[in-house]
Amino acid sequence: MKKLLVISPHPDDEVLGAGGLLVKAKKNGFKTKVLTLSTNFPEPITKERLEISLKESTKAHRILKVDKSVYFNIPTLTFSRQNIPNLTSRISKEISNFKPDIVIIPFPDRHQDHKIVFDLSMTVTRPKGVSKNIKIVACMEIPSATYYSAPSVEPNFYPNWNIDISGTIKQKAKALTEYRSTLSKTESARSTKSIYSLASFRGSQVNLNYAESFYIVRMQSKKNIL
Ligand SMILES: [Zn+2]
Repeated sequence: MKKLLVISPHPDDEVLGAGGLLVKAKKNGFKTKVLTLSTNFPEPITKERLEISLKESTKAHRILKVDKSVYFNIPTLTFSRQNIPNLTSRISKEISNFKPDIVIIPFPDRHQDHKIVFDLSMTVTRPKGVSKNIKIVACMEIPSATYYSAPSVEPNFYPNWNIDISGTIKQKAKALTEYRSTLSKTESARSTKSIYSLASFRGSQVNLNYAESFYIVRMQSKKNIL
């Protein structure tokens, strides 16, 4: 059985960036896992806040039919203060246990946590040791952060892999609505409307109704793995 792992910096990034792919992969016989490193809340994280975050994420993952959800519960915006070798080894252990064929990681966008998790992910998915059999490593497009980068000064997201999510976009949009604590009426990137708009735009670039786009940073096989 093929396996898909999504490394998500925060709860909701996996929905925004790879929600359609997660459902599609599951439909196509994959086993799916989401590793969420942070919570949605900065310090201090109270027990109540943590419970809200985990409850919302569990509901979203149920809609996406995720097989396994793992949470490291690191407070948001504290990655630069974490013990990086220790964190790298914890992520490596998750890869070693799950043995994924595809690993989806964040794009190094404006969000400081996304940049650090991108770096960590690139380290742990080097094609050797526990990661030697990974077929594809690809960055996901997380609109709430990717679009705040400085054009041309910072890396811009240009997809080179577009997945047809016409059959799974409904679940993606529904899953996002479970993240009630992060949805904002004033921030339009995190909305059902934006999910449809972006997927429609990405789809139009490659003659699909709705697409979810990725940037492949490493690929071992040219076979259509999905
Ligand atoms: Zn994030």
